[in-house]
Amino acid sequence: MSKLQSLGAITRWYGEFASASIESAFLRDQGGVIQHDSSRSLAFCGVFFLAFALADAAHLGFSAPTLTLFAARLAIAAVALAGIVLIRRSVQPAHTAYRAATVFTTLAMLTFLMVAYFRGDVLLHGMSMAIMLIIVYLFIPNRLVNATIVAISASVAFLMLVHTAGMVTPRQLSTMAMLLVLANLFGAIAARRDACSSRRQYWTQQILIEQSVRDPLTGAFNRRHLNAGLLTQQIERTRRQSASLCIVMCDLDGFKAVNDIHGHQAGDKLIQDFAQLLLSMTRDGIDTVVRYGGEEFLLILPDSGLAEGHAFAECIRTRLAEASSLHGDVRIKATASFGVVSACLSPDLPGVASHSLIARADELLYEAKRNGRNRVCVAEWDAADLP
Ligand code: GH3
Ligand code: MG
Ligand code: MG
Repeated sequence: MSKLQSLGAITRWYGEFASASIESAFLRDQGGVIQHDSSRSLAFCGVFFLAFALADAAHLGFSAPTLTLFAARLAIAAVALAGIVLIRRSVQPAHTAYRAATVFTTLAMLTFLMVAYFRGDVLLHGMSMAIMLIIVYLFIPNRLVNATIVAISASVAFLMLVHTAGMVTPRQLSTMAMLLVLANLFGAIAARRDACSSRRQYWTQQILIEQSVRDPLTGAFNRRHLNAGLLTQQIERTRRQSASLCIVMCDLDGFKAVNDIHGHQAGDKLIQDFAQLLLSMTRDGIDTVVRYGGEEFLLILPDSGLAEGHAFAECIRTRLAEASSLHGDVRIKATASFGVVSACLSPDLPGVASHSLIARADELLYEAKRNGRNRVCVAEWDAADLP
């Protein structure tokens, strides 16, 4: 199992991602669907629960219990409506939907116990209870753990009620208990299957997205990701925040000779080691490393001025020159050249296009190559430099 696949592990009992941050990202991603499904199912259940007041009236006539049950049914419909409003307004719709589902199903189950108690038609209500359990597990979106607690508690309360009120014979009670065990078991298994399959689907999608933006040899971002607006977004962000952005173009020196002398696999290993050095020296979640070409990398360093970018490139240059890449028992020494350009951006100043910034860094890189390689050339961005 790859590292990415194991990161997306799903817990055995809860049917949720083992990682809390991945579960949160999943719920954020699914927010719209959960919001839609929750609103629909709460509306449907609320209306249905209210409509069954007709069955109460048919059974009990126009009496005090009928009115009590009607008031309770009305309250449940109001809870459903409040839930829908809250879910629609929420910035975290999935979390709100799960809370609303738990409150709604708990209160609906309690009201249902009252219905069963007043109406007494206990075998019919036992079967209705089983159907309601399936609704709790599968129809109203909720966390599996919440739905299980509500469903099992309601089942136990129902059996205790009909037993203590003497509404069933022991034989009927045991059959009813079996029916409710079955409904809980099937409901929980199906709900878990559903929870796992939507998470597996989500995680497969995340793996594919990750693979489409990464270079398979080095793990750095690829050109496709850069071309999709990676640098442009950073430039825009820097401009909004009136800050500095630094980009570094770096390229291994005399790399073709490594391929020619030691073979392409040794060349690949050197590229991987160089990328590893770049990835390990850049700030996680802040800087970006892109494999720009064969042995050429682009670093995007937000909130960095020219002095910082220069010092950083010098640091990488020295570390690379001191290290060596091991391929089998062959040690390969390598150096790299760097072009560093930094831009001070703000909303009041004219913007800069990503390709212009890259072109300037590339010029500086080739200046470093011309000046003897294994060196860093730097410049502050100046719009006058535009070709
Ligand atoms: P310079 O110092 O001017 O950068 O010279 P160089 O030899 O490093 O650069 P040049 O552009 O002449 O050669 C780059 C070579 O990199 C040519 C190409 O075959 C090789 N290359 C490109 N991608 C890969 C790769 O993924 N693996 C390997 N092993 N070689 C690659
Ligand atoms: Mg090169
Ligand atoms: Mg090159």
